[in-house]
Parts: sequence; C-alpha cells; structure tokens
Amino acid sequence: MQAFSEPRATKQRQAIYAALQGDTSHPTAEEIYLKVKRQLPHISLGTVYRNLKLLVEQNLVKEIAVAEGPARYDFRTDDHQHFLCDTCGRVYDLKVSLGLQLRELERTGFTVQRRQLVLYGLCPRCRQAASVPTSTRA
Ligand SMILES: [Zn+2]
Ligand SMILES: [Zn+2]
Repeated sequence: MQAFSEPRATKQRQAIYAALQGDTSHPTAEEIYLKVKRQLPHISLGTVYRNLKLLVEQNLVKEIAVAEGPARYDFRTDDHQHFLCDTCGRVYDLKVSLGLQLRELERTGFTVQRRQLVLYGLCPRCRQAASVPTSTRA
C-alpha cells in the first residue's frame, strides 16, 4: 500500500476518479484509461486497473460485473440496479426496488450481504431500430 501514498499515484487515482464523475455510460477500465490518458499520457492500463480496484474497495466507485465482457464502473455508489443492452452494450441505471424480495429472503432464513442485479435485453433505442418500420411516425 506504500505506493498509493506516493504523490504521483494519488494524482493518477484522482484523475481516474474525476474521469468517472458524471459519466452515466458505465465505462470499462479500458474506456476510463483512454479518457485519463489524454490528461496523463504516461499512465498505463495496469495502473488504471489497480486504482479502480482501490476506489472500489474504498466504496468511492462501484464495479458492475457483467455476464460477458469486462466489468463496468459506476460513479454512483447508491443502491441501484442495471440493465445491459445485448445489442449496443449500453448500461442503464434502473430504479427497481428489491426491498420486498429481500424481506422475503430474510424471512426464509437467508442473509443477503451483497446485491447486484443486472438485467439483460434490448434497450428502447435498439428495440426501435430493430422493429420493422410499419409506422410512418418515425
Ligand atoms: Zn441498445
Ligand atoms: Zn449505475
């Protein structure tokens, strides 16, 4: 952990954290790397991974493990769920409440310690693009 108190490492971590703020696209580590690289040209992908891991451990960012492909990162650390579009790969924030289901689980003897729900399917944009244009409204 010594390395993280080094000023350069802190600067890199701050840049990574800053790059994520307000980014609702839920970028991958590689996308974050490309963004931060514009500001810190010497940063490596490995450094980005290391710092992301640390930010996740500190609860400053959220890691979203997905069924296929690399993990996505979220600056929102509040309790919310995700929808991943199979076609375009966009990740959307969902306001799905798990409260009732969780209470039912607890009632039947389960203790939930972590939760992460990712729903997969077709997003509105892709659904519209995929549908046969029968309407003249479009
Ligand atoms: Zn889509
Ligand atoms: Zn999110």
